[in-house]
Parts: sequence; structure tokens; C-alpha cells
Amino acid sequence: MTAADRPEFAAALAPLFAAYGKPMSEDQADAYWRFLSDLPIGVVLDGIEAAGRKAGRYLPSVGQIREAIDGQAATRDTRPRIECDLCEGAGWRWVAPRLVAPCVCEAGRVKRDTRRAVA
Ligand SMILES: [Zn+2]
Repeated sequence: MTAADRPEFAAALAPLFAAYGKPMSEDQADAYWRFLSDLPIGVVLDGIEAAGRKAGRYLPSVGQIREAIDGQAATRDTRPRIECDLCEGAGWRWVAPRLVAPCVCEAGRVKRDTRRAVA
């Protein structure tokens, strides 16, 4: 975000505080701004919206807004769709009833790499 995004940011953050019945102080707005400022405004606005919709017991922290952003990024797959007859681009193919394995295609390679990273 840049300084030009600050009004839009404040306009999105204020309802979040309002939803929790909290007044938003300048210090708080500054803190949220500072710790989210490395992200693009559009991403931050989506994250604030998502964090507000989750409606936990407490006012979402900067960390929870970031979690909401990460959660959205995970569901918003921007990679180009891979053409594959075996897995139809999903990266997983059936090797037996109820048993899947990473596909031999590029999409499957990503799954194999992800699995290795987790293990
Ligand atoms: Zn495939």
C-alpha cells in the first residue's frame, strides 16, 4: 500500500472496529496500517472483509487479517490451468479405487513438491 491508499484503508478498517463495538483510535489505525503496508491495497481490503466475515469473539488482529489473506490466496488459484487427460489439471490421478497419487504431468509435479515440503 502507498500513502494514497490510506483513506481507502481507513474506510475499510473502521467498520471492522465498529462491528466489535470498538472505537478505532489513530494509534490503532496506524499500527494496522504499518504492519499491513507491505501488501497491495486490494489484498488488504479483501483480507479485512474476510476477517470481518469470520466474526470471531474478538476484534481481528493484524495476524488474523493476514491469515484471512492467506486463506483467500489458497482458494484463489491464479496459476494457468494445466491441460492433462489423466488428471484434468487437478494434479491427482486415480491409481486404485479410493487411492490417488500425484499425476505425471506438471500439475502432479507441484503436488509431489508440496508433499515433500510438508514431510
Ligand atoms: Zn495430470
